[in-house]
Amino acid sequence: MQELTNVNLLEFLDRAQRNALKEKRYHDALLTRILGYVLFHEQKDHVFETAALVGLRQVLDSVLNGALEQQAQLGRPACSFCFKTEPDVRLAAGAAAFICNSCVATFAEVFREPVSN
Ligand SMILES: [Zn+2]
Repeated sequence: MQELTNVNLLEFLDRAQRNALKEKRYHDALLTRILGYVLFHEQKDHVFETAALVGLRQVLDSVLNGALEQQAQLGRPACSFCFKTEPDVRLAAGAAAFICNSCVATFAEVFREPVSN
């Protein structure tokens, strides 16, 4: 049985993220990268943690480009992460993207500091 190393794990996450982006499953691509970041962060493996963050930024760029394209097609602003529009969600505008109240809640949970005992 092959030992699961961080190199194997990073390669696996790379493949999963590429496939998700190819199939326009942006939420899955983001979760893949966030999962990698959290795993490597918990292991205190700063090299792989940084690699995961670089991957996350690539996914965010892809998601942003897709969202901007979709907004142009829709003719109205949509969340850059989940593509929902008002009135289904409330939107906040950034420099080149929108985020909705639902995605803010999800990311707040994902990036919440772990409770120390
Ligand atoms: Zn959203």
